[in-house]
Amino acid sequence: MRINDLIAKKRDGQELSAAETGFFIESVTSGSCTLAQTSALLMAIYLKGMSEAETTDLTKAMLASGKSLDTSAIPGVKIDKHSTGGVGDKTSIILAPLLSVMGVRVPMVAGRGLGHTGGTLDKMETIEGFNTSLKPEEMLAQLKDVGGFIAGQTEFIAPADRILYALRDSTATVGSIPLIASSIMSKKLSEGLDGLVLDVKTGSGAFMKTLDEARALARAMVRIGNSMGVKTVAVITDMDQPLGRTVGNALELKECLSALRGRWADDLKEVTLTLAALALQMNDALAEEAELGAMSDFGRRTYVHEAMEFMEKGDVLKKFAEMVDAQGGDPEIVFNPSMLPTASHVYEIKAGSSGVLRKLDAGAAGTAAMLLGAGRSMPGDEIDPAAGLVINKRAGQSVHEGETIALMHTNDEALVKDAEEAIMEGISIGDREAASRPLIQEVIM
Ligand code: URA
Repeated sequence: MRINDLIAKKRDGQELSAAETGFFIESVTSGSCTLAQTSALLMAIYLKGMSEAETTDLTKAMLASGKSLDTSAIPGVKIDKHSTGGVGDKTSIILAPLLSVMGVRVPMVAGRGLGHTGGTLDKMETIEGFNTSLKPEEMLAQLKDVGGFIAGQTEFIAPADRILYALRDSTATVGSIPLIASSIMSKKLSEGLDGLVLDVKTGSGAFMKTLDEARALARAMVRIGNSMGVKTVAVITDMDQPLGRTVGNALELKECLSALRGRWADDLKEVTLTLAALALQMNDALAEEAELGAMSDFGRRTYVHEAMEFMEKGDVLKKFAEMVDAQGGDPEIVFNPSMLPTASHVYEIKAGSSGVLRKLDAGAAGTAAMLLGAGRSMPGDEIDPAAGLVINKRAGQSVHEGETIALMHTNDEALVKDAEEAIMEGISIGDREAASRPLIQEVIM
């Protein structure tokens, strides 16, 4: 087999066989496929797409390029939640301890932020000493003893994805449904999971700008997961405006700590508890070896009620402190969030006129937070843990001229001008409310 022939085949719109996708991924991992060839094949896939069978074969080959966690000796159902990436999207940090406390094992392999999107690992690392580089045996020990962990992709997990993702980033081939689906699912399937709940974001702050694209991505991932023995459900949620009231690492962690004490913004609460209810329903179905049917309103309310009881008792906060402690962070931070980094400068973004806030665009807010130092324009860039935005107003609310819409936090005054321009591009005030979309758009099983 020759890579050149595979490139030509895909370029001409033909389907690659399982043996061919396997050969491509083996050649990428061993280094025998040149960067030029890999890039050419990625672009051909981007332009011509892949069939369902090809996408599953690609996922299997990427998964096989590394090792999987063997969680079989650990009792209980193992479920992870994964988001396709957004702005202010902090639900994982609340869900990991919440689900663990409710008896689900949560092996969470999370990512870093890139561009305007944030990453769970960056948020967790604002806790001094918190170690996200767990070895497989450490992941397993913590899963057994604590019930969950939040760690990064190590070299043993889907190494082919690391190589491909870095290249996709520099060859404008990130936004391809088969490439995103296989990238995410190869990592998730290596965690030794029984179930997976996916949060597929759609809107200006998401990879998938339209509902149709989000649906296609969600369907592809659900199909791959279920066909490979991991019960998979996806929720499509709105990412036209940031989720919650903060964007930026330490700011978001503080917001999570408030949420764990029961003080949270309605949108963050709705998305987090919807994902929690689905994971809990899945846990029950897997434990009883029952079919996973559509959730009734009554079922959802029951799970949410139980979750809220655990939160109110303080058990979730305690579980989070236990997770932080197990991974080398100071658990005292969980009870005393003022120990987290804070920025030296805070600037207000004020309303230029009175009216209704028609839009506070998630893409623009994410870019502004990145420019303030909270994110990276290139993988590997340093970030400022304290930088970001606090958002006071949501689309649909009235504002008065001069009122504060958001606050910019940074340690570098020189970054403020560009960040302000970026966020202002995403703000619009008018006389009437703009049509808004529901936060939870669809559930795909
Ligand atoms: N997240 C991933 O892990 N991979 C992608 O391709 C996109 C988002």
